[in-house]
Amino acid sequence: MSVYKKKIIVAGGGASGMCAAICAARSGAEVTLLEKNNVLGKKLSMTGNGRCNLTNLKIDGSYYNAAAKSRIGSWLNEFGALDTIEFFRSLGVITMSEYGYVYPVSEQAAGVVSALSNELSRLGVTIVYNSQLKSIERTGESVGYTVKTSEGVYESDKVIIATGSLSGAKTTMSTGDGYYICKKLGMSVKDTFPALVGFKTTDEDIMPAAGVRSKAAISFYLGEELLTSEKGEVQLLTDGISGIPVMQASRGIIKLVSENKPVYALLDLYPDYDEESFDRLINEMIKLRDSRSISELLSGFGNSYINEMVLKRMKLSPTMKAVNISESMLRCIFENYRKLKFNIKECNGYAASQVTTGGISVGDINDDFSYKNNPGIYVVGELLDVDGRCGGYNLQFAWTSGYIAGNAASH
Ligand SMILES: Cc1cc2nc3c(=O)[nH]c(=O)nc-3n(C[C@H](O)[C@H](O)[C@H](O)COP(=O)(O)OP(=O)(O)OC[C@H]3O[C@@H](n4cnc5c(N)ncnc54)[C@H](O)[C@@H]3O)c2cc1C
Repeated sequence: MSVYKKKIIVAGGGASGMCAAICAARSGAEVTLLEKNNVLGKKLSMTGNGRCNLTNLKIDGSYYNAAAKSRIGSWLNEFGALDTIEFFRSLGVITMSEYGYVYPVSEQAAGVVSALSNELSRLGVTIVYNSQLKSIERTGESVGYTVKTSEGVYESDKVIIATGSLSGAKTTMSTGDGYYICKKLGMSVKDTFPALVGFKTTDEDIMPAAGVRSKAAISFYLGEELLTSEKGEVQLLTDGISGIPVMQASRGIIKLVSENKPVYALLDLYPDYDEESFDRLINEMIKLRDSRSISELLSGFGNSYINEMVLKRMKLSPTMKAVNISESMLRCIFENYRKLKFNIKECNGYAASQVTTGGISVGDINDDFSYKNNPGIYVVGELLDVDGRCGGYNLQFAWTSGYIAGNAASH
């Protein structure tokens, strides 16, 4: 007697969709994976600067947005960082960890995509490229679904929507189709904003085209109110600021920026100095004041482009002799390196962002990622209102939700 195999459609062949398709097929379902692009995992192949930061060993709800925080713990209990490492090992992808950040030893994201694709083929998953999910409807009185796409119509028992967010370069096909499709199905969609993104500033400071990278602490304020602070390598660009600490902070300030609130950042280029030791340092520097130019005096104190910017902001000529500058003015120049101000104009937009904050409300989703009002439909990955910090947390959520939904849908 032949056993009936559940027919499952997975829409979206990115991180969460490929994981869901593999898990459903491993559990015995007949799986069809629909991908709008002409390749699988386009965004995945760009992650971690091409190295693919798969997950992070230091992980819990505090690394995610407020809406997801209370749910993420139990999801990670079911499929967490160690399960991810084990899952990739089963595909022949061996991982290593750098301070908890987990990468494939090959340090090639393309290898991760290739391993997932090979497993899909090995399991007999049907992959349809250039297939854009358009709508999902209940098939008559039965329990199945009619799935309409740009290239045809499919019948299935269950549907997993894994079409991703609005973030990423154009080639990743991150057009946010899923928000519209899920809304039509009755799900509530939280307002979306780009997150893990840099900002344009109103200050016109001259930086080289490639920008300047500097270890710093950066704090964002609205008036006197400190919004958030981060530490790390900040990138100063011709028209804005970026780098990991800025991207990490972006999740907390993006809404205020989009409402045109006057948010500004203060950059501290001497973050490891307390007030007393920095004061001592300034006194030492002031003692060096002689006939050399102020630009020469600053040459060992800060990056030359930053020095130029500080002097320009203070309307001082770089050729001015240090000896002709008063002690209090010199003190003022050095103090700039602790509170370099940047007025935030806008964020760099979805195409430059790594994730989208907002999306399908987790309140509409059961623990197995099925839709509460229509449990044959599942929503996974970044399409949901779940976003994490930089460091492997977003891919971990893609694996976690893909694994749980893929298994649940096949039973
Ligand atoms: C440059 C960059 C670097 C990043 N680096 C990291 C990192 O190192 N670590 C980390 O944790 N996170 C990283 N992220 C975030 C991470 O890539 C995403 O969170 C993750 O890929 C989300 O997985 P997903 O499956 O939800 O969406 P995606 O991976 O975007 O997959 C969605 C898929 O659905 C397809 N699709 C869209 N619409 C339709 C439709 N209508 N029909 C059919 N298919 C459709 C798309 O073509 C795509 O293949 C990075 C993101 C970017 C942009």
